[in-house]
This record gives sequence, structure tokens and C-alpha cells, in this order.
Amino acid sequence: MYLEVKNLVKGYTNSTRVINNLSFSVERGQLISFVGESGSGKSTFLKCLAGLEKINSGHISLNGNMINGNGVFVKPQKRKIGYVFQDYPLFPHLNIKENILFNLDQKYIKNFTKIINLTNLEKLLERYPHEISGGEQQRACIARSILREPDLLLLDEPFSNLDANIKYSIRDEICKIIRESNITTILVTHDINDALNISDKILIFKAGIVQQFSSPETMYCEPANCYCAEVLGDINKFPIEDKVFYIRPEKIKLVDNSPNSMHVEKCFFQGKEYKLIGRFKDNIWSIISQKPVKINSEVYFDYSKKDLMFFDKNCSSFFTS
Ligand code: ADP
Repeated sequence: MYLEVKNLVKGYTNSTRVINNLSFSVERGQLISFVGESGSGKSTFLKCLAGLEKINSGHISLNGNMINGNGVFVKPQKRKIGYVFQDYPLFPHLNIKENILFNLDQKYIKNFTKIINLTNLEKLLERYPHEISGGEQQRACIARSILREPDLLLLDEPFSNLDANIKYSIRDEICKIIRESNITTILVTHDINDALNISDKILIFKAGIVQQFSSPETMYCEPANCYCAEVLGDINKFPIEDKVFYIRPEKIKLVDNSPNSMHVEKCFFQGKEYKLIGRFKDNIWSIISQKPVKINSEVYFDYSKKDLMFFDKNCSSFFTS
């Protein structure tokens, strides 16, 4: 495996562990998303990879070399790891070209033209950071990192400071650049759509423990527990006899008549469709509708048994409804 993390433990004090026995591995060229609520240890993990923090136990190896563990600690400057943060750390007194070339080992200068073309920065090289947009600054940060042929690229919430209307096009552009450069990447994001749309695999983290590490499709259709299910999008609680099942809103089909109905309390237009919020057996539900529906009316629905998810009974405490 290209990146191997084994039994990693990290705490800032002796008594508490931020990361508890983390193990996973990544193949070369894969893009992995790390999803977890604030304070779950995502940035701490990136810092351990980059060498800005030492791990307490376990090990990390990259491209066949141990970088931390078994008595080894490779200093950050000796690790070939690119780190891009959310707040575009470019030097304000240097232009974009000078920023990208800052402190560059001459052996990488051969990559300059290719990376500038790939990141579409040709016309912006003479400008200063305050003269270009947030998305362009983020592209410059990516260019600065990948020019140095990193073994691993770490992206810490790189899209969160971008305006919503341009975020997805910039995200897709950056994703294309990473794919074309075949750079193994770990993306930390709180936006589940980023994780679902662009990653090869998603790792969901809570309380220092991996909840699930799998492809976006598996994660969405077969969440390991209700925490993962909830992180990945709306889900409805469905009591049937003495058991509680869960089902995604988009798996519910509205029909003219059925024994199952929901009392509609809200109806939101979402662009392509409407989202109905209402009550079913004392649970707050959402259902997708192609047409607007009157508040306080009943809608009838059908479902397929195969779309029901079942988790053990302790799981229900994750849900608030
Ligand atoms: P995330 O990136 O998922 O929001 P962090 O890795 O930043 O989470 O933080 C995980 C936990 O570690 C938090 O409880 C945070 O307060 C704590 N923490 C982070 N950095 C330090 C530090 N340098 N010293 C002590 N505690 C820290």
C-alpha cells in the first residue's frame, strides 16, 4: 500500500486521545475524503501526516518509507508532503509567480510550464494575491504544492472560504488537476457533497475512532451505523412492528393511495424538485416530490423493503427526531 497508517494513537495530554487506534491504507493516486464533525481530530491527523505533530504510538509509512513510528520521525521538511489550507497562505508582497517559485528546489523548475498550464494561471503570474479571486488564489496554492511532486497532498477544507456559486466549479477544476497529476490526496471536508462527488473513498471519523472507510456508494447505501447514515444525508426513522428501520427520502415513492401517509408541515422548492417535511408515526420525515404540495395535506407513499436500513438499537440515540 502507498500510504499505510497502523494503530495510530495521538493525544495532546496523557489522559485524552484525539485519535484512537486509527488504521487504514491508501493506494497510489487515490483521493480520500476525511469527514467528521468539528473537533473530531481531522486537522490533528493531517498534522501527524505532515510531521507537524508526533504520534504517540503506531506508525505511518508513505511510499515504502516509515515517516513516523518504530522510533523513526522524519522532519516535516524531509517529507514530500504538500499541505493546502483553507485560507490561501500566499505571501502578500510577492506576485503569484514568485509565490509559486518561493524556496523551490531547482530540480522541480522543469515542471513549471506544465503546472501553470494545468492550473490555468498563465495570465495571472505577474499579479499580487490581493489582485486575484479566492478561487485563483487556491489554484496558485495547489500549483505551488504539486510543482514539488509531493508523494502526498493534504487539503484542509480548501473550498470552505469560496463563494457558494463558484465553489463547485473550482472544486471540480482542482479535482481534475489532482487526477491528471495522479497525486495521492487526503481531503478534509465538512461538506458531505464534496466527499460523495469527488472521492475514491470516504473515511468517517467520530470521537477519535473510524466509523467507516469505504467507497461513496457503499457509504451511502450501506452505512456502517446510524452516525454514518446521518452524516451522509437526510434519513427517515421508520418503525415497523417492534423494530426501527431507516430509509432515505429519495427512496420513498409518492402514490395516490397507500396505508402509509405523511402529514405535510412544510414544502420547500429545491430547484429541480420539492422537499416535503412532515410527520409519520410521530417522527419528522422528509420526502421528495416533483410537485408542490399543500401544507396540512396528507401524502401517500410506498417503499421497497430492500431500501430499509437496520442498525442495532443503541444507534437510535444518534438521531434527534
Ligand atoms: P478537527 O480538525 O476535526 O476540527 P482538531 O484536530 O483540530 O479537530 O482537534 C481535535 C481535538 O484536539 C479538539 O478537542 C482540540 O481542542 C484538540 N486540540 C487540537 N490541537 C491541540 C493542541 N495543539 N493542543 C491541545 N489540544 C489540541
